[in-house]
Amino acid sequence: MSDKIYTKSAIGQMKNKYGFKFTKSLGQNFLTDGNVIEEIVEASGATKDDLVIEIGPGMGVLTHLAAERAGHVVAIEIDQSLIPILEENLKDLDNVTIINEDVLKLDINEIIDRYDCKSVKIIGNLPYYITTPIIMKLLEENVKADSITIMLQKEVAERINAEPGTKAYGAISVAVKYYATVDYIIDVPKEVFIPQPKVDSSVIRLNILQDRSVKVNNEDLYFKVVKAGFGMRRKTLSNSLTLLGIDKSQINDALEKAGINPTRRAETLSLEEFAKLTEVLDGIN
Ligand code: SAM
Repeated sequence: MSDKIYTKSAIGQMKNKYGFKFTKSLGQNFLTDGNVIEEIVEASGATKDDLVIEIGPGMGVLTHLAAERAGHVVAIEIDQSLIPILEENLKDLDNVTIINEDVLKLDINEIIDRYDCKSVKIIGNLPYYITTPIIMKLLEENVKADSITIMLQKEVAERINAEPGTKAYGAISVAVKYYATVDYIIDVPKEVFIPQPKVDSSVIRLNILQDRSVKVNNEDLYFKVVKAGFGMRRKTLSNSLTLLGIDKSQINDALEKAGINPTRRAETLSLEEFAKLTEVLDGIN
């Protein structure tokens, strides 16, 4: 990046020039470290053949580097007071489109369809108050992208990346891994953000799968089983799955048919076992 728009002093100057004030409730913690910016854009693998969709560009520090590497960048920012700053910071680039909207309200595939590009990469230093809704929206709506490279709270990154049998493994691990494989890129200390958040962050990449990672006929039921299983995570599956409103003896039968000991807990089940259990439970009704 020629002009360093990410330094604390550059961000401070823009703040003063435009009378900008950080809005805590919008998860505004801006990156001030060129190496981390490089790591995120590099991990996305964006090239001139790609459309990059960035969620929450802030003052445009990731946007700028992404636009240098990608064919086109669409940056979606909810905070209107950041738009003039983005325009100034990105004025030397002609391949950036800024959309002043709430990402959760947009049809991302419709935006993608506006561009003629070989493939799509999604990036972002996500606003932490809506990390999970953003990730699940993209995955559940079958976003037409190869990957999602994001910074998020370290603890959430660890939960998404967790393996069965670990304390961090939960509904979010099972849900994300149903749609994507996860690569852990780097941990990022809280000191490189302005204002400084309370917790450290991590960058992960979700590589979206063409097909789901396990075969499930009734997706709705699969997610209900996962939710019920982890709904009372300290309890055995035999107990926690009663949240499904199914008789306990039927639950025990289904668990046995699926080859799962009813005294196990959800946190020990692999995605394949959740899928097998769903198949058996689906047959009951
Ligand atoms: N990318 C910038 C950086 O790394 O310095 C800013 C990252 S900051 C953690 C998150 C950004 O997301 C903020 O600019 C915030 O205004 C924006 N944001 C928050 N909620 C949003 C939403 N629902 N839709 C779009 N952008 C949102």
